Amino acid sequence: MEEKIKGLEKIYSSFAKETQVYRDQGACQKGCGFCCTDAGRIDTTTLEGLQIKKVIKTLPRARQTSLAKALSKNIRKREKKENHACPFLLKNMVCMIYQVRPFACRRIYSNHICTRENPPQVSRQVMDMAAQSIRELQQLDDTGYSGHISFILHMLGTPAFLETYLAGDFKPEAIMRFGKSHGIIINKMMI
Ligand code: SF4
Repeated sequence: MEEKIKGLEKIYSSFAKETQVYRDQGACQKGCGFCCTDAGRIDTTTLEGLQIKKVIKTLPRARQTSLAKALSKNIRKREKKENHACPFLLKNMVCMIYQVRPFACRRIYSNHICTRENPPQVSRQVMDMAAQSIRELQQLDDTGYSGHISFILHMLGTPAFLETYLAGDFKPEAIMRFGKSHGIIINKMMI
């Protein structure tokens, strides 16, 4: 697993370096949070989810409790396909898990200041580089899955699933029911 985590960090840092010049020209600023306040699907791999879970465990107990409630609410909203503020967004518009935020959040930026009428605009070149990084992330996590952040965290919070995944076993039939109804992708099928 250690090797996989290093691989994850390498993909993040390569993408950040390759796209720096584009993002430097973007309009994004700390405290904006536009992409996080009315967020739709925030795709996360199971490997990324493990990293997020580690950080959640270091949060104060009261924050962990309120986060668990916010994640459950987010699950209900996404099950109805409704957009909802990301459960990790703090009141001051800062990400609670910024250091381990998933690639879905790292790849987004905008060439202009966003409004509902004028959503984020990303360069074509960055979109192509992001598509390549997503393939690499799925390849790296080839016994895992991808899907909306709260669904993936829910799966990782299920002891039987976590045990199977950490053992490197691949049993997609075990998540078939949940996977189909929640749009979970089998990484191996995307490679
Ligand atoms: S994980 Fe962080 S960066 Fe990503 S949508 Fe949530 S608050 Fe925003």
